[in-house]
Amino acid sequence: MSDVIAFIGLGHMGGPMAANLVKAGYRVLGHDLVAESLATAASTGVEPVAFAADAAARAGLVITMLPAGAHVLALYRDQGLLAAAGPGTLFVDCSTIDVADARTAHEAAVAAGHRALDAPVSGGVMGAEAATLTFMAGGGTAEFAEAEPVLAAMGRKAVHCGAAGAGQAAKICNNLILGVSMIAVSEAFVLGESLGLTHQALFDVASTASGQCWALTANCPVPGPVPASPANRDYRPGFAAPLMAKDLGLAANAIREGGVDAALGLAAARMYARFAAGTGADQDFSGIVRAVRDGSAHPHDQNGTPA
Ligand code: NAD
Repeated sequence: MSDVIAFIGLGHMGGPMAANLVKAGYRVLGHDLVAESLATAASTGVEPVAFAADAAARAGLVITMLPAGAHVLALYRDQGLLAAAGPGTLFVDCSTIDVADARTAHEAAVAAGHRALDAPVSGGVMGAEAATLTFMAGGGTAEFAEAEPVLAAMGRKAVHCGAAGAGQAAKICNNLILGVSMIAVSEAFVLGESLGLTHQALFDVASTASGQCWALTANCPVPGPVPASPANRDYRPGFAAPLMAKDLGLAANAIREGGVDAALGLAAARMYARFAAGTGADQDFSGIVRAVRDGSAHPHDQNGTPA
């Protein structure tokens, strides 16, 4: 593979990821529809290119970091990315998209004489900036081996999860666990409030008992027990509720398509969609505890004190 990488989508995640590739010594040709994002990327050493297809034509590896599957498929097919690239180019899509779209993108790349990986990430903007992302990849073993050094320049860990789409599958399954467990932890705190149990007492028990989970011990949805959690800064993200709503929406699509009996996943998708469209639009996903509290009969403040 050549050391020239095309990077399409230089937003909150793509911008710092492309910057880390430059730091690692790669020549990065960047493109974004938004001029400001392109200018910011240029200030980190990314070479701005006016058309995505031009960047792809000059690179051995093409990374996309875009909002949704429709953007990836439109770029690959309608906007000529696959047609412009040299034979055998490796396309690595790091966006979080539908598993079905990931498989379609993979098939389109292969049909055009290229190779492809889906490699969505976990770790958020802070992980993108610090090059500590986790990548979960789907595609061939040889393609994963080829992409590994590039992924290592942007992250701390890369797991090869299986064939095309397996990276996206791992991402939505993980976030289904996270979304459901955050709601469960939030419901337990609000139930505790109505029973007169302090947040600290519930935390001290559950964090060392069988209720222990990341949503409780790292991202605790009530202020106090975990000082670094977003609840202590008025639920500023962190992992924003609209992103959780998006990921659970993708999980819900896959649940329905696969005919899976996943009632809690579907309920969590509905709860986060409602929360993200309303008061949670600019909050961390742990702010769902407020929605649980607001929907409950016995009013308490965020510290658990009866209002
Ligand atoms: P973002 O909206 O900040 O960035 C997306 C960028 O893609 C934008 O700059 C947009 O202008 C650009 N874009 C859209 N269509 C384009 C096109 N046709 N050609 C060129 N550029 C185009 O989003 P983000 O937060 O960087 O997220 C990107 C992806 O990463 C999403 O799929 C998201 O779900 C996933 N993700 C985000 C986070 C996070 O914390 N932000 C964490 C994990 C995964």
